[in-house]
Amino acid sequence: MRIAMIGAGYVGLVSGACFSDYGHNVTCVDMDKDKIARLTNGEIPIFEPGLGALVASNVHSGRLSFTTDLQEAVVDADVVFIAVGTPSRRGDGHADLSYVHAAAADIAKALDGFTVIVTKSTVPVGTGDDVERIIAETNSDADFVVVSNPEFLREGAAIEDFKRPDRIVVGLEDDRARPVMEEVYRPLYLNQAPLMFTGRRTAELIKYAANAFLAMKITFINEMADLCEKAGGDVQAVARGIGLDKRIGSKFLNAGPGYGGSCFPKDTLALVKTGQDFDAPMRLIETTVSVNDQRKRAMGRKVIAACGGDVRGKTIAILGLTFKPNTDDMRDAPSIAIIQTLRDAGATVRAYDPEGMEMAKAALEGVEYTANAYDAATGADCLVLVTEWNQFRSLDLRRIHEVMATPSLVDLRNIYRRNEIETAGFAYTSIGRSDQTTDQAPSALEAVE
Ligand code: NAD
Repeated sequence: MRIAMIGAGYVGLVSGACFSDYGHNVTCVDMDKDKIARLTNGEIPIFEPGLGALVASNVHSGRLSFTTDLQEAVVDADVVFIAVGTPSRRGDGHADLSYVHAAAADIAKALDGFTVIVTKSTVPVGTGDDVERIIAETNSDADFVVVSNPEFLREGAAIEDFKRPDRIVVGLEDDRARPVMEEVYRPLYLNQAPLMFTGRRTAELIKYAANAFLAMKITFINEMADLCEKAGGDVQAVARGIGLDKRIGSKFLNAGPGYGGSCFPKDTLALVKTGQDFDAPMRLIETTVSVNDQRKRAMGRKVIAACGGDVRGKTIAILGLTFKPNTDDMRDAPSIAIIQTLRDAGATVRAYDPEGMEMAKAALEGVEYTANAYDAATGADCLVLVTEWNQFRSLDLRRIHEVMATPSLVDLRNIYRRNEIETAGFAYTSIGRSDQTTDQAPSALEAVE
């Protein structure tokens, strides 16, 4: 199959590389000239484990290439994927579909012969109809069908998720697309990954329903954490106690500083707006959005409380800036609101992240970046663990204790045990584990979910 992938970001680049690894011929198109120049030079513009090697081997085999020329990629393609961004629209929180619409118009002009156009971007229900209309209006001779194929990969585990998905959802209204999509996903189909065919609108809704449900689950356990702190309980034991119930499941039950990232915040907001548009209010998700928004700044106040209620003139060291480990993505990371709260309260903020500091510089002002965790801790009055990168799980506590001005650790991911930290001479604050409880660190497996 000849595939054109429009958009070579986190989703487009991973999907393009994986499709080429299945044996398809893939051309990734991006309008960002710098991104394409870097890719053409063998550089990977994002941090995603395993992606460099996957791209290199498929470029080497001649099945994967990069261009800024959409026309050249689309004219020969059997299948064109749209994997452009759908950020929140400034002002109202609806998904901004301008990139999708522009891509559809550009694709329309380049179509030649029967082509399946697949929306992989996360788009509100009904967008497939818009794409179909835009293409038909732009090129009345075009022979095409529009399919919805939402992507469920997680940054940091994107290749594994793409190659071993829980399911592949394909929404279509025209059966001519079905054999084409079966061929595109043939290697996964042979691996028995469930390929689920639905109507196009249903597929669009499935993606938002999945993200909103996961965001709600995280928000639920975060509220339980607050209750545990006040009532005297251990949220990790609560999470385990409910997660072992197969109807609930143990994933996405790690209490923390609130969800962030490139998907959950914008997708929950967009679903709320869609619900309002259709007069079917998504009240649970409205509440989820508002609880989560408040939580991020509340985490800043938690740090201030751990510093005795006043951080003016104090230095706070932040470990981990990205919204989760194993990515450099800073979009809507909780660290942004936490750091802003601390700076507003008069603190000096110093930070270290293994991969996210370049991206962080664009999102955050007035932060001093350091070369490692120990430099960040030097002279600090409080060390705040915001993102659970593996290297922060085994810090040399004695060394940290020696270099800090005041040995105080705020662990917003519950990766340490109170006993261990207090024995090392630190004051310790964590999430959802009251002073009375004997808390337990989660297993490594649970912690990365
Ligand atoms: P991204 O911002 O990393 O990448 C989008 C790319 O599209 C950019 O490089 C941009 O330059 C390019 N682009 C925009 N318009 C274009 C056009 N007309 N022609 C060519 N290139 C164009 O975004 P992303 O994180 O890859 O997300 C893409 C979509 O996938 C979004 O809808 C997102 O919600 C969804 N999604 C993302 C993830 C994730 O983990 N990032 C997971 C599942 C789904």
